[in-house]
Amino acid sequence: MKNDNSIGLPSGQNFLIFGSPSIGQEEISEVVDTLESGWLGTGPKVAQFEKSFANYKGVTATQAAAVNSCTAALHVSMVAANLKQGDEVITTPLTFCATINAIIHAGATPVLADINPNTFNIDPATIKAAITPRTKAILPVHFAGRACDMKAIMALAERYHLIVIEDCAHAIETEYKGRKAGTFGDFGCFSFYVTKNVVTGEGGMVLAKKEENINRVKMLALHGMSKDAWHRFSDAGFKHYYVVECGFKYNMMDLQAAIGIHQLARIETNWQHRQAIWNRYQQAFADLSVIRPFDPEPNTRHGYHLYTLLIDKEKTGIERDVFLDAMTELNIGVGVHYLSIPEHPFYQKQFGWKPEDYPHAMKVGQQTVSLPLSAKLKDKDVENVILAVKSLLKRN
Ligand SMILES: *Cc1c(COP(=O)(O)O)cnc(C)c1O
Repeated sequence: MKNDNSIGLPSGQNFLIFGSPSIGQEEISEVVDTLESGWLGTGPKVAQFEKSFANYKGVTATQAAAVNSCTAALHVSMVAANLKQGDEVITTPLTFCATINAIIHAGATPVLADINPNTFNIDPATIKAAITPRTKAILPVHFAGRACDMKAIMALAERYHLIVIEDCAHAIETEYKGRKAGTFGDFGCFSFYVTKNVVTGEGGMVLAKKEENINRVKMLALHGMSKDAWHRFSDAGFKHYYVVECGFKYNMMDLQAAIGIHQLARIETNWQHRQAIWNRYQQAFADLSVIRPFDPEPNTRHGYHLYTLLIDKEKTGIERDVFLDAMTELNIGVGVHYLSIPEHPFYQKQFGWKPEDYPHAMKVGQQTVSLPLSAKLKDKDVENVILAVKSLLKRN
């Protein structure tokens, strides 16, 4: 990769990987311990991770089920919610494709409701307009770690008797009016994918308000085998298991939980570090011709999962995709979260969706850039990102 020293970036600078996780010696030792214990699959470390996660979110361990991804968490939650063919689930066009695919795999029909252009979160007014007699659920995504308008969303859910499934892939630390994301809805689904705020390699978690829903999720996540099947994973002696539903293979392994336990122990220091980087970006880019994220709303806690800029060529003089390439040339990894869902050929073909029917999400998808915001970033890395951005964008 070539460097442009004229802007002051060090020539020997290594490529800054976007979303690279911060892994400590504790995680490494725990993984080794797991390997040496011979117990690699679902066992005591998964139970410990579930308990710690539930504790962090202020719920009981009987309201949490660890699974092997957030995609699995979303899918199995919707199966547990008894969604049927033809049921409609309203969600946002500004999300990862997994949100939509999970709805389809659950046998339901996804319906998109455009975002609020300031928060990038699903707009309760557009949700209301999308409700039909077939609507069974709302699936809000707390985008970038910013809490959705849960007061309005829960009011709609109550009024129209809808299930709420929160996609909290960005929102482990997020709070809304003193309450934690993932505890508003019937289900809250979390991701521990490598770029997320807490990582296990691949991994996910379901929180459910009702214990019976968690029991069903656990059963469905392990082939649909009766609850006693989990005792196979202990030394309590041989037990027959019975398959009571056609389930999936979605269980988390102790190898994954070994990483998560120590990631979770450092969640607050990592959050503070990302908050400091976020604030530094906000200040550094104040006089540039870009649109920065809105400040977090009062009485909420932002998860600081993504820091995004909007590159409007009219104002910045540079196209978003040119900016992405230029940042990469400067050895800085960047991301796009996300091209709006209707930009993808499959959904166009399957549902007839057109990007221009969801203009706010379309505009964000065409202009957004995510800058590095990992807790692994050193001061010097953040300085390099700021230098690079400033070298490419005009002042106001
Ligand atoms: C990452 C992500 C998912 C999927 O998470 P996995 O753990 O990779 O399955 C779902 N929704 C959103 C918004 C995400 O960012």
